[in-house]
Amino acid sequence: MDDASNTNGSTGAAHSPDQNIAMNAEWLATVSHELRSPLMAIKGYADLLLHYEDRLAEGERREFLQEIGKGSNHIASVLDRFLTLARFETGDVHVHLAPVDLLQLLQQVLLDFSESIGGEAGTVQRSIHILTEFDTPTVKDPQGSIIIMADRGLLQVVLIQLLDNAHKYSPASTPIDIGLGLDTAAQWRALVPEQVAAQIEPSQQMMVEIRIQDYGIGIPAHYHEAIFQRFYRVDMNLTRAVAGLGLGLTICQYIVTLHRGIIWVESLPDVGSTIHVLLPAQ
Ligand code: ADP
Repeated sequence: MDDASNTNGSTGAAHSPDQNIAMNAEWLATVSHELRSPLMAIKGYADLLLHYEDRLAEGERREFLQEIGKGSNHIASVLDRFLTLARFETGDVHVHLAPVDLLQLLQQVLLDFSESIGGEAGTVQRSIHILTEFDTPTVKDPQGSIIIMADRGLLQVVLIQLLDNAHKYSPASTPIDIGLGLDTAAQWRALVPEQVAAQIEPSQQMMVEIRIQDYGIGIPAHYHEAIFQRFYRVDMNLTRAVAGLGLGLTICQYIVTLHRGIIWVESLPDVGSTIHVLLPAQ
């Protein structure tokens, strides 16, 4: 098999009917696996509780109930992703723009994220740093943060997703770096890859860039665009071992575009990946 799989028949290049059937079958297999594994765990623990309840210690009963809760949460989150995607695809998402303190939001997201991964058994505590590079003071507030007009909730979804990917696709012993840079659109045009520069709207003035960098498995260059298509997963060993539906980056792209921003990836296999998000700062 090719080392990448677009499991959605309706995006990307045109495919023959046979290819579409194969891709849909592969996609169904991914989705079924994502739902079936937690469902089987729930059923297994529920059966144990049903048949051996009086022989189980209090601690064991608690543990089984917690596993049932975990499985249910996983199924709910898979279904949530589908509903979220459907809402974006039907244009049923309302963006509420308001001033957002980007540095404060990043710190909050980082705190929540570190707590959520901190409890994983046997994992090394991740080192995640925020590095700021502000050259231009115009839109900084006196505390040195950046205030942008954005939908806080939606931006939070993007940041959590990108951190989650960096965490999933790199060893826990390596750091994750978050970069924050502020500059004029003209400067960004000179700094970013040509195809990204071409997408910066002429009316833009100040723009802020958020970079989430990991030192993990990386992504071969010929998949850098495809990973933003829905249900697309690069079929490498580690990707297969990690749960995922191939929807996270698609949802991020929808959100960034709704903010008139641009998202792209810079990555080398076995070196690591950086996801860049460039947003208007006014
Ligand atoms: P998911 O992670 O659920 O599969 P995403 O849409 O978030 O879906 O990502 C799509 C694919 O892009 C992933 O399956 C993976 O192959 C690749 N990918 C995303 N982020 C990274 C990363 N930081 N490092 C390596 N590969 C990545």
